[in-house]
Amino acid sequence: MKSNKELLVEISELKSQLTVANSLVAGTFKNKDSYNLNFGNTSEIIQSIDPDGEILFVSQAWKDILGYSDEEIKHLNIFDIIHPDHLESCKEQFRQIMDGQFKYNFSTVIVSSSKKKIFLKGVIFPQFINDKVVATHSFFQNVSEENKFLEKSKEIDIKFQKLTETANDAIVILNHKALTIFWNNAATSIFGFSADEMIGKDLHNLIVPDRYLDSYRKGFAKFTKTGKGVLVNQTTEVVAKKKDGQEFPISISMSSLILDNKWHAVGIIRDLTELKKSQEQLVNSEAKLSKFFHEAPIGLAINSMDGKFVDINEEFVKISGYSVSQLNKLSYWDLTPKKYFADEEIQLKDLKEKHIYGPYEKEYIHKKGYLVPVSLKGFIISSEGEDFIWSIVEDLTERKQNEDRIKSLAGEVSQFIDTANAPIFGINSKGKINEWNQTSEKITGYTKEDVMGKGLVDEFITEDYRKSVKKVLDNALKGIQTSNYEFPLYSRDGEKIMILLNASTRRDIQGKIIGVIGVGQDITELSNHRENLENLVKTRTKELEASLEREQELGKMKTSFVSMASHEFRTPLTAIKATADVILRYQEQLSKNDVEKRLHKIINEVGDMTIMLDDILIMGKADSQRLEFNPTNLNIIALVKEIIEDYQLSQEVKREVIIQSSSDQLLVNADPKWIKHIVNNLFSNAIKYSEAPKPIEISIGLENQMVCLIIKDYGIGINKTDHDSLFEPFVRGVNVGVIAGAGLGLAVMKKGVDLHHGAISFNSEIGKGTSFKVLLPILISQ
Ligand code: ADP
Repeated sequence: MKSNKELLVEISELKSQLTVANSLVAGTFKNKDSYNLNFGNTSEIIQSIDPDGEILFVSQAWKDILGYSDEEIKHLNIFDIIHPDHLESCKEQFRQIMDGQFKYNFSTVIVSSSKKKIFLKGVIFPQFINDKVVATHSFFQNVSEENKFLEKSKEIDIKFQKLTETANDAIVILNHKALTIFWNNAATSIFGFSADEMIGKDLHNLIVPDRYLDSYRKGFAKFTKTGKGVLVNQTTEVVAKKKDGQEFPISISMSSLILDNKWHAVGIIRDLTELKKSQEQLVNSEAKLSKFFHEAPIGLAINSMDGKFVDINEEFVKISGYSVSQLNKLSYWDLTPKKYFADEEIQLKDLKEKHIYGPYEKEYIHKKGYLVPVSLKGFIISSEGEDFIWSIVEDLTERKQNEDRIKSLAGEVSQFIDTANAPIFGINSKGKINEWNQTSEKITGYTKEDVMGKGLVDEFITEDYRKSVKKVLDNALKGIQTSNYEFPLYSRDGEKIMILLNASTRRDIQGKIIGVIGVGQDITELSNHRENLENLVKTRTKELEASLEREQELGKMKTSFVSMASHEFRTPLTAIKATADVILRYQEQLSKNDVEKRLHKIINEVGDMTIMLDDILIMGKADSQRLEFNPTNLNIIALVKEIIEDYQLSQEVKREVIIQSSSDQLLVNADPKWIKHIVNNLFSNAIKYSEAPKPIEISIGLENQMVCLIIKDYGIGINKTDHDSLFEPFVRGVNVGVIAGAGLGLAVMKKGVDLHHGAISFNSEIGKGTSFKVLLPILISQ
C-alpha cells in the first residue's frame, strides 16, 4: 500500500500530465478516440467519465482489473457498476467534484464483470471547458486486498459478536503477517486503539514496547511457520503499551488457528493493572495488619482452640510478663487463677456457639505471681482450615486503682458533706430533696428521713419566698449558679432561720445536669443583730435629729436671750441702782421705814431677776432628763393654796382671788418645786395681764381621774395669731404692750407639765380674759 506522501508525489506528476492533456483535449474532447490516444498506454487505473456517468475513457489496467470488454464499456454508465452499498456515497462524492471541488481521496467500490467487489482508492479531478465541468478523471489504486481484511474482520466480528459483546477480555486475531484482522471492544478499551486503527496494521508495532519488539517478531516468524511458540497455549504475563504510550501489565492466552491455510494467532488479553494494584495492596495490608497486631496499644493474643498461645503482641507481653517464646509453651489455663475456671467454661461455650465471647473481667496470673485485673473479649478466626481464638485483652490495673481512688474520694466527700459545719442539701432535677447533712438536721430539726424525697420548695419554704427560691433552684438546674441568696426557713418548732445560700449545679460524669447542691450558712443571729443595729441606727438618727433641733433652738434662744437680757435685765438693774443710790445719798434723811421699803424693792427686783435667770437655765438644759424632777406623794390642794397665799403675801397690792376645790385633799405623786413654779407662773401672768380689781379665779379638782388646775383671769386675752406658738421660748403675745416679760414662763412651765406626763391648754378671748388649764396624772406611788 502506498503512503499518502507517495501518492502526493505521483499526483503532482499526474497534474503536469493533465496540464498537457488539457491543452490537447481542449477542442477535441468529444472525440473518444483522440482521448484514448493521450492516456491509452498508462499502467495506472484511470477512468474518465462525463457528468452523467457515461464512461469516456478507461485505462488498460482498469480493464484488466474490472474485466469489462471494450464493447461492454461503450454501453456502460459508471453508476451501473458501482457496488450498491457504496452507490450513495459515491454519487455524493461525484456531485462535489461536479461542483468543482478537487478531491485527493476518492474511493469507490466497483463490481467487476466476474461480480467481484473491487475496492478502488485514489484521486479525482474535474475538467473544465469555459468554466463548466465536462469530465472527471480518476486515478486509482486497487485496494481490494487490504479491504479483504476488513471484510474478513467484519465476518469474524459477526461470528464473535456474541462473545465480544460480553467479553471483558480483549480478543485479538492476527494473520500470518502479524496484521490485525480482529479487534473487539474490550481491546479498544484496554489499549485505546479503535478497530479501524488496528485492522490491517502490524499489531506488534502498536502494542509491544520497543525493547521487546525484536524478540516478538522473531517469535512470530517462527509461529507462522509452525503454529507454535513460547506464548502459545498458555497464559503469560507480559508488559504491553497503550495508545498513549503508557506501559501496563497484561496476561495473554494465545492459541493458534488456521484460516485460509495460514497460521493465525488468537490472543485473549486481560488488563492486570487493577489486579497488580490489589495484590500490592494485599501485601501492604498484610504488613499493616501485622504491624497493627504487634504494636496495638491493647493486648492481643491468638490461641488455638485448646488454649495454646499461638501469637501475642507486645502489649500482651507487658500484661502477662511472659515473652512470646515463653507463652508459646503455655496455655491460657496457666495464666488463669482457678477461681475463674468456671467462668472461663461459660465464655468458651459462648465462643463455640456464637463465635464471640466477652467482654468479661477476670485476672491473669502475672509471671511474677501477682494477679493482674483484665477485661477480655474475642472471637474465632479461621486460618487454613483451623480455628483460633483471637482475644483482646485490656489491662484494668490502672482503672481499678482509679476506681478505688474515686470510691475513697467519694466517701471522703460524702463524709465531708455530712459533717460539714454548714447546712448542705441537694435536690434532684424534679426539686426533691436527695441530700441533707447533719447541720441541716441540727438547725431545722428535720432528720434526713423526714425530708428525703420531699419537695424542698413546696414543703419547707414559706409562701412569700417560694417563687424566688424556686427561681434560684431552677436557674441552677439550667446551669446558672447563684451566690449569697438570703431566704428564711422555718424549723420544725416554727422558728425562723435565715439562710444565706450558694446554689450550684450538680452534674453527672457525662456533664449532664442532675440536680442542685445548696451550701448554706445560718445567718439568723447575724440577721437579728443586723436588724437590731438597723433599729439602733434609726433611734440614734432620730435622737441626733432631735438634738440637732434642740441645738438649733438653743442657738435661737441664745440670740433671743442676748437681745432679751440687754432689755429685760437693764430695767430691774436700773431700778436697783436708782433705789440703792437714793438710800446711799439720802440715808441721813430717810426714815428706817423708807430704807426698809427701798431695800424690799431691791430684794423683789433681784427675786424677779433670779426667777428669770432660773427659767433661762431651765430652757438651756438641752433635754428633759437633765432637768431635776423629784416627785413625791403630796396633797396638791393644800400645796396650791399655800403657794397662792405666799405669793399674795409678797405682793404690795393684793388682788381678789377666788379658790374653788372639790375637797381639801387630793394626793398626787408630783414634784413640789415644779408645782410651785407652774402655779406661780400662771397666777403671776393672770395678775400681770389683767387689771385690778378684776378677780382671779382658781379651781382645783378631779377630771377624768386627773388633777385639774384652772387659773382664770378677766384680762387682755390672747390674740388668735399667737395661740400656736405661745409655749415656745421668748414668744410673747402681740397685745402685751408695755407689760414686762421675757416670754419664757409658759415654755418652762410646759417642761414641768411634761415631766409629770400631764397636759396644759388654754382658752382665751381678746379683751375678755384667759383661762389656763393644767391636767396632771395622779400616779400615787406606794
Ligand atoms: P411673759 O409673761 O414674761 O411675757 P409668759 O411665757 O409667761 O411670758 O407668757 C407668754 C405670753 O403669753 C405673754 O407675753 C402674753 O402675751 C401671754 N399670756 C400669758 N398669760 C396670759 C394671760 N393670763 N392673759 C393674757 N396673756 C397672757
